[in-house]
Amino acid sequence: MSEDSNNATMEKEPLHLPKNLAKSPPVEEEVCGSPRSPRELWRKVKQKYRLVEFHALPEYLRDNEYILAHYRADWPIKHILWSIFTIHNETLNIWTHLIGFIIFLWLTIYTTMKLPAVVHVPHLPNISDLQKIPKELLASISASLPQLHVPEMISNVFPDSLHIHIPELLSNCLPEALLSANRTNQCMLVSVKDDMANMLVPFLWRPITRWPFFIFLGGAMFCLLASSICHLFTCHSERVAYIMLRVDYTGIAALIAASFYPPVYYSFMCNPLLRNVYLIFITVVGIATIFVSLIPVFQNPEYRNVRAALFFGMGVSGVAPVMHKLILFWDEPEALYTTLYEVAMGLFYGMGALVYAMRVPERWKPGRFDIAGHSHQLFHILVVAGAYTHYHAGLLYLQWRDTKGCVVR
Ligand SMILES: [Zn+2]
Repeated sequence: MSEDSNNATMEKEPLHLPKNLAKSPPVEEEVCGSPRSPRELWRKVKQKYRLVEFHALPEYLRDNEYILAHYRADWPIKHILWSIFTIHNETLNIWTHLIGFIIFLWLTIYTTMKLPAVVHVPHLPNISDLQKIPKELLASISASLPQLHVPEMISNVFPDSLHIHIPELLSNCLPEALLSANRTNQCMLVSVKDDMANMLVPFLWRPITRWPFFIFLGGAMFCLLASSICHLFTCHSERVAYIMLRVDYTGIAALIAASFYPPVYYSFMCNPLLRNVYLIFITVVGIATIFVSLIPVFQNPEYRNVRAALFFGMGVSGVAPVMHKLILFWDEPEALYTTLYEVAMGLFYGMGALVYAMRVPERWKPGRFDIAGHSHQLFHILVVAGAYTHYHAGLLYLQWRDTKGCVVR
């Protein structure tokens, strides 16, 4: 053990109460033998549930030997609940993901209420489009009936239409083969059609389905809340720790699997076969990962790297649909922008897995990072950062499909 760890050990409180703890009991107990005052009882309870050192932990709580002290062990539920607001080596583990959960809850509410406005809606009808239509219709009718001398009649009624070059308009609307060499680019009929389309699109426009995006938000909230609860209650008992760790692993697998849904669904929205193959694959892998994590041996400290590798591998399998999307939509800027977000997310998750597996920085200075700065806290922050990056990627996917619709490649 290093010099630092020895110093840290000397500074910490002992695990068990000294046998002579009752040497100086409160005056009222010594004098009259009456029950202790509530204050004294509370003091005794606080003494009994003191923070302990790593070497004094029960086996089921021994996970990271580089965190030397400030452990809670075998605490009752009431004390555990109060410990949310006290300082120990799990305080920041609890709060980093509790705050992350609150952020994603707020994002879910915000997105639900504002989503139609979050993405770009094709432009709304404007007055100038409405004003142009009668004139364009008039010109088109005139152009299509030249032999009846309608243009002159109409021009008499509507002097403005004198500016319209009827023969030219007519030639512009003729089939390609019949066009003269000096045609202009404007066809009034086409223009009328465009104006009508511009007015109708906002009323006909329907946003694409949002459920894959909300699957991701639900997965993120579940993972963050499950993790926070796990870190809070694991110290209660071996039985509770057994359940909590499995809830934690389930949350991680759920977040990774749910993160696939928006990119896969929106990238391959118009190709149901590809879309379903990818979604079924990640769902099956996610469920398999949860089952593997239920095996008791899986949570032994020596399997730390296996755990990290399993979740890391699950996340890395997301490279396949992202690359596939890039190949199919290489000419669309949205495909590149969403990929950049995915890369940033992958870097956050990758760094998180690395820090978790290597247990840095506490490995370099055991005892120095017990309260703040140890690997698990950094891992938590990187997970929230990765999920938040993926939220923005999801918004971009929605905007892409809302504005460009379904493009089969
Ligand atoms: Zn955690």
